[in-house]
Amino acid sequence: MTKTLMKKWHSHEGTIAASSNGFDLIDCKFCGFKHIIPIPTAEELEQAYQHDYYTKEKPLYIERFRDDLDWWNIVYSQRYEILERHLPDSHRSLLDIGSGPGYFLLNGQKRGWNVRGIEPSVQAAEHSRNLGFEVNNTFFLKKLLQS
Ligand SMILES: [Zn+2]
Repeated sequence: MTKTLMKKWHSHEGTIAASSNGFDLIDCKFCGFKHIIPIPTAEELEQAYQHDYYTKEKPLYIERFRDDLDWWNIVYSQRYEILERHLPDSHRSLLDIGSGPGYFLLNGQKRGWNVRGIEPSVQAAEHSRNLGFEVNNTFFLKKLLQS
């Protein structure tokens, strides 16, 4: 007989699908998503994405990304090819939300797309700027509220 572990946080509850680094991932019966509990606050998410992700969580992310850039360029080219099949030349503008180090933007620019990025990480946004892009260093929802 399988024992099913349940976890509850406010109204969010469900079976534990995985546990790692002190977090439980639940298959939530309340909202239908799989997510960790407790759900991080806006302040915790801001700290994680703006400051910790590229310095504490994945400090070598951009360096390793560059090591795999040939592969990523193939992936990005395939994605742009799909978009280009459905969009006329006059509609080739792209907003990359969570643009990371900016290589998807770079790939699009080389293909003639008008590209912009929004990236919460200070380090990733700076990397994108060094590639020559104007990237808004903020969260997408904050950008919407400011518009
Ligand atoms: Zn939930």
